[in-house]
Amino acid sequence: MTEEKNTFIVRCGEVALKGLNKPYFERMLADRIKHALKKFENVEVKRNEGLIFVKAPKVLDPELITAEISRVFGVASISPAIETASDLDEIGKAAVEYMQGLITKKGIKTFKVDAKRADKNFPVKSPDIARIIGAQVLIGCKVLKVDVHNPDCLLFVDVRRGRSYIYEQKIMGYGGLPLGANGKGMVLLSGGIDSPVAAWMMAKRGMLIEAVHFHSYPYTSERAQEKVEDLARIISGYCGRFKMHVINLLPIQEAIVSNCPEEETTILVRRFMMRIAEKVAKETDCGMLITGENLGQVASQTAESLIVTDNSVQMPVMRPLIAMDKVDIMDIARNIGTYETSILPYEDCCTVFLPKHPTTKPKLAKILESESKLNAEQMIDDAVASRDTIAIRPAE
Ligand code: ATP
Ligand code: MG
Repeated sequence: MTEEKNTFIVRCGEVALKGLNKPYFERMLADRIKHALKKFENVEVKRNEGLIFVKAPKVLDPELITAEISRVFGVASISPAIETASDLDEIGKAAVEYMQGLITKKGIKTFKVDAKRADKNFPVKSPDIARIIGAQVLIGCKVLKVDVHNPDCLLFVDVRRGRSYIYEQKIMGYGGLPLGANGKGMVLLSGGIDSPVAAWMMAKRGMLIEAVHFHSYPYTSERAQEKVEDLARIISGYCGRFKMHVINLLPIQEAIVSNCPEEETTILVRRFMMRIAEKVAKETDCGMLITGENLGQVASQTAESLIVTDNSVQMPVMRPLIAMDKVDIMDIARNIGTYETSILPYEDCCTVFLPKHPTTKPKLAKILESESKLNAEQMIDDAVASRDTIAIRPAE
């Protein structure tokens, strides 16, 4: 006997706009959904007419399945649905049963049917389907009334070739593009609010990520590093397993503090971070760097500072948060679940040796002159060679 299953209709976001590449992106998205549901047995994922249909055994909690699918980038929305044959009698019976369930579960009193006929060969037109099914529901569920303006339940009837679907909810996904659709980037991941959001935003556009984190042990604590690992694990819940390279920046910070003007410490440290990250990125097939920098947020993120920072590397530097306001970044952090961890009060390597008056308008020539006093290439090579690489995977 075949196991009874719940159906979930998954709508593809922008993937649907990709012209000739559409099947490629849809296949990729279906694969990502399969991957996300791998831990459950007997789940089917199939593509049909621009939609993805997931069927999961009835014993599995539909909310859990919906939650898993909604985290997959590229998913616009999901509707847990009832599947029937494309036959008005069958659809009507299923609709009555479905609405009876909703009356018990949600206490709905009014409804409206919204019917759609994707199969243009189906002999009854959409408004007539809505009317016929609405009438059947009224007969089968005596407590219900039709309200076309403000119904408690909008009942969707989607008639397709062979099979039809009944549902009432559209649960929103994050949109974006399936992971792997857009190269791989190296995120400079701190324990703050911004960089986890930046990583998540790039992953949402289909970019695979890898991370580098700098600490200044023993000035920064082990607990501070655990916090970053916790953040990485949360992000990995969206973008899958990735590697994080952990590097002690202290020798470089000490060399800068001993040899260069105090007000230049921050910008110099940032240039070294970028150069180290670029080097690791090249070794690991990442084509770009990603940071959580945001125009004007701190001294090292003024326009002038960003220009001087950018000049340290050849790789493109993606700064997805550049023009956002902090409150909006915080909203995303809350929404994706990183905020509570990000605000835990542990020190960051950037706060070690913080100058009293960091320069906000660094001049490249002057910064290069200061840097020339350092054995930069060697220090960068040493930092890269000394890295610890840890595997990050989603928390269970
Ligand atoms: P965040 O909230 O991400 O920590 P921030 O506003 O505190 O950002 P900065 O500390 O100036 O800003 O850092 C700017 C960016 O530099 C961060 O978003 C991150 O990409 C990178 N960065 C900062 N500290 C580290 C670190 N310890 N390891 C790796 N990257 C870092
Ligand atoms: Mg920070």
